[in-house]
Amino acid sequence: MPSSKSRQSPFDTQNERGVDRLLQIEAVYDKVPVGLCYLNRDGVFVTVNDQLSRMLGITSDHAIGRSIDDIVPDHAALLRISLAAALEARIVPDHELERSGETFMLSAAPVTNDLGEVVGISVAYTNITNMKAMSERLAQIEQRTAYALESAGQWIWDMNIATNRVWRSPQYRALLGLDPASPDTENVAWDIVHADDKAHVIQAFEDVVSGRKQHFEAVYRVPRGGGGEAWILSRGKIVEYGPDGSPLRLLATSVDISSQKLIEEQLSSTVQLRLELEQKLLEANRKLKKLSESDHLTNLPNRRKFGRLLKREYERANDLEQPLALLMIDIDHFKAYNDLYGHMAGDRCLVQVGRVLNRIIREGTGVVARFGGEEFAALLPAATIDDATEVAKTILDSVANLQLDHEGTQAGKTSVSIGISVLDRINPATLGGPDELLNLADRALYEAKRAGRGRLSMWGSFAAD
Ligand code: GH3
Ligand code: MG
Ligand code: MG
Repeated sequence: MPSSKSRQSPFDTQNERGVDRLLQIEAVYDKVPVGLCYLNRDGVFVTVNDQLSRMLGITSDHAIGRSIDDIVPDHAALLRISLAAALEARIVPDHELERSGETFMLSAAPVTNDLGEVVGISVAYTNITNMKAMSERLAQIEQRTAYALESAGQWIWDMNIATNRVWRSPQYRALLGLDPASPDTENVAWDIVHADDKAHVIQAFEDVVSGRKQHFEAVYRVPRGGGGEAWILSRGKIVEYGPDGSPLRLLATSVDISSQKLIEEQLSSTVQLRLELEQKLLEANRKLKKLSESDHLTNLPNRRKFGRLLKREYERANDLEQPLALLMIDIDHFKAYNDLYGHMAGDRCLVQVGRVLNRIIREGTGVVARFGGEEFAALLPAATIDDATEVAKTILDSVANLQLDHEGTQAGKTSVSIGISVLDRINPATLGGPDELLNLADRALYEAKRAGRGRLSMWGSFAAD
């Protein structure tokens, strides 16, 4: 049993009490899953535990009292290095030992007597074969993950929050134009961020560090190695916390979104252009509509427009049971006017009469249109026969006041004749509709002409009123 090993210990001559201490821990000594031994200053085995015997394929009885050169010639040199370091009070280095397909970590520590003198070293052999394989596999997985991410255009960066320094994957460094040979963590994290983007990037970082947000996410510009700048989308997460819960590491990926940004910009300018075009088109349409509904010479609504207004007002008057007056106004002897003064003068006369009519009718909240030739038509919503008569009289006076010479008329001045029809005291049901209102006004106008011109006439029974 193990007790016999230590009793024969060559330490006996140097330190009895040291051996007693060894005896006390003997019970656990053979049980620990680590190979242990003590070597005296000459490199002779003093103790060897069961675990180490199995690891090295030796028996402790054979090994104790013998030199490491005899027992473990394959790595005696490593043990001598440790021994020498211990004796010279230097730091004792660890060694990795490959043996029969297994890897051991050799950690040695000086053993001292009561006087503090180094009397030998204790050596622990840890089988790290599995650990090594695992860490190699881990590194491989890490590498593969990084490769997969990089192939997908995702660059990795890993930030030490305390130092504000960051490790960036090689491809990311290449994009930024950073020297691949320089230390990975030389760059302070936010140095590369465009000045205009810094505030919101740091805000996003503080949000995740403070725990306000689960993820770090920011879009910003960074300098491109070849010149210019790249738009980056970064996403990350705190992956390590200190014992007090403070965040230690931010692991993140960045992706180049420059082309998306470009498309976004082009799209928004296209949308803007489209909006402007639409606006212009609407404007053009509006103008065209106005043109198609107005008379070029007088700028008044044309017959087409008048037809629509008449229909609308007629229906409204019926619905609201309100009156509606229609006036047909025709310049007297206008053919003669043209003949006397020329067509151009005739045009000017038309414009002047049109202006007068427009002013008067609009004051009466109605609308006047050039119906055709030298004929105008006016609508006066809600106007009774009396209202319409009043307006017609004002028109007759105002045209007379224009004092436009016209030698072809009796008075020697330009005059108009007016025919009035009103949807009022008559039963709407007997009236055929807006066209009939128009026809009646026309008949009244004919009546006014026949009666001598320069006057007004009302349709039907009103004429007698
Ligand atoms: P009445 O008193 O019976 O209405 O006689 P009138 O000569 O006014 O009637 P008529 O229908 O015989 O002639 C209308 C004239 O109006 C004929 C045409 O030369 C003229 N006229 C129509 N449109 C225009 C125009 O845009 N400009 C000019 N200068 N004359 C026009
Ligand atoms: Mg006329
Ligand atoms: Mg006419």
